[in-house]
Amino acid sequence: MTRAIRVAINGAAGRMGSAVCALLVRDARFTLLHAVVAPDSTRVGTPVCANAPAALRCARDWRDAPAVDVVIDFSTPVGLGAALAHCLAGGAALLTGTTGCDAAMDARLLAASARIAVLRAANFSLGVAVLRRLLREAAAALPAWDGEIVEAHHGAKRDAPSGTALALGDAIAQGRHTVGETSFVYNRTGLTDERKQGSIGFATVRGGDIVGEHTAMLIGQGERLELVHRATDRSIFARGALHAAHWLSQRAPGAWTLEDVLANPRVDA
Ligand code: NAD
Repeated sequence: MTRAIRVAINGAAGRMGSAVCALLVRDARFTLLHAVVAPDSTRVGTPVCANAPAALRCARDWRDAPAVDVVIDFSTPVGLGAALAHCLAGGAALLTGTTGCDAAMDARLLAASARIAVLRAANFSLGVAVLRRLLREAAAALPAWDGEIVEAHHGAKRDAPSGTALALGDAIAQGRHTVGETSFVYNRTGLTDERKQGSIGFATVRGGDIVGEHTAMLIGQGERLELVHRATDRSIFARGALHAAHWLSQRAPGAWTLEDVLANPRVDA
């Protein structure tokens, strides 16, 4: 693609949306054409971010949005639904990092991927992508060890456990050739039985300004393996999202993942 990739951002006033906007307006590969915030946000009608085109203001919705190549979404499941409808109407690709979606939204995104390119990732950091790969391998090598995930995030995070923690649970399950969700244990309050063999437990810490920390444990008799990822700056997610958005702008309709980006990194300049 010789011209800049036309982008809209959904959730532009949020922590992640702001980080993506700040990087995107300084990146010559992209041009930012539309930025959506929550309909009741005080940011509606205000400038999107420093260095954004002066005429560009935060919009409350997708009405009158210009045609774009890619929509980048870091919002809420409701916000994601509206962005998805816009992408389907105009044929734009959708890159979303929004977590906490229910099964109905999962199904909508999958159905949409027959018509548009959709890339979902609960975590756009390169380190977490490698962590998932390592964890899959470790779980395959240690099938009888107990899998536990501990995650910590800032106090304003709304979903628990984090999407990344769930993805790490899936990585353990994949390594063992089992189905993640059926073995997940989210809460042990009131349980009186012993730990069920093969189950994967989750524990959640919330507080302050923690950007995101994940510890995956494989626990044996007399020894324990811990794989830890600590994010200290959310620009890592924003950088990963922009790299993936560039990649996605050149893909056919489909349900893409960050692993596809890493496995086939080629993008035309
Ligand atoms: P945040 O609360 O700071 O931002 C979300 C923004 O979405 C808010 O500004 C909110 O006003 C806005 N919003 C609400 N309803 C909307 C609507 N209908 N339309 C448009 N915008 C709407 O949260 P955050 O930390 O930026 O995280 C956003 C999402 O991204 C969460 O689901 C979080 O778990 C996820 N996340 C993903 C990654 C990743 O790498 N994939 C990294 C960090 C966070």
